[in-house]
Amino acid sequence: MRVETPDFELTETLDADIRRAADRIREARHLLVLTGAGLSVESGIPPFRGKGGLWTKYGEPPLDGYQRFVADPAGAWRTLLNPTEPWMTALRETVAAAKPNAGHRALAELEALGHLRCLITQNIDDLHRQAGTRALAEIHGNATLYRCLGCCRRFARDELAIDPEDLPPRCPDCRGIVKADTVSFGEPIPEDVLSRCFAEVARCDCMLVAGTSATVYPAAGFPVEVARSGGVLLEVNPEPTELTPLATVSLQGPAGAILSRLLHWVRDASGEGGS
Ligand code: NAD
Repeated sequence: MRVETPDFELTETLDADIRRAADRIREARHLLVLTGAGLSVESGIPPFRGKGGLWTKYGEPPLDGYQRFVADPAGAWRTLLNPTEPWMTALRETVAAAKPNAGHRALAELEALGHLRCLITQNIDDLHRQAGTRALAEIHGNATLYRCLGCCRRFARDELAIDPEDLPPRCPDCRGIVKADTVSFGEPIPEDVLSRCFAEVARCDCMLVAGTSATVYPAAGFPVEVARSGGVLLEVNPEPTELTPLATVSLQGPAGAILSRLLHWVRDASGEGGS
């Protein structure tokens, strides 16, 4: 698998900014992280939008996936088992082959060091979990899981036998209809994860936002809410976004390199340790 790692030079100015961001992380009482598709670009998973994006290549898909599922769950399951949309096949194949990168690992280590209360991700690729992050709110679901629409129970894919002759599958607990955990276009965010996010954001005094264009709601509203209530906003992205003007510190560059360096400065405030 080919992984795009952009050429990147850590300038003195940027390193000083990373150090400032690390200071804010160490001072934080309730640090949250919000990540998006950009975090997994260095693992070989393209984002939807922009250069190299799946939609740029294949065109934007219909945005009524959930309505279609509800109208015909068995038909939607047949499509899930035999995808016809090229962007869906491309996403599925790259996700299956991907491994966590330096950015995922740095965030997992930030949690292990006791700095991180919760990581909210819009990604469905399971890479934060594979990197070792434990306090994880997957706001758009997880491609390796199924979910009951009735009681929100999640199932690992090998936990629930799918009979192609008897679709849709039903929840063994409540008999509700089971669908892929990945949140479809037009689907409400599952209530359990959404209420957890709101509770975390209400307590948050510092949010680190990495690899998201911050255009998809409700996740895009979380950093805006933190900034509005006087919290610290730290951003990591190679490009300016709509959040950049609100950011206390904006770190322009790829997540792998920047987050690794950030972890270095969080660990070693004196700057005398190794990198
Ligand atoms: P987006 O595609 O709108 O934006 C991606 C952002 O990542 C851009 O701002 C871009 O500048 C930035 N970026 C690109 N390379 C980067 C790098 N190396 N390091 C850091 N940032 C980098 O993605 P989004 O904001 O997450 O929203 C789109 C939706 O797409 C989400 O809802 C998500 O569920 C879904 N999605 C997920 C995956 C995945 O699970 N990996 C992949 C594609 C899309």
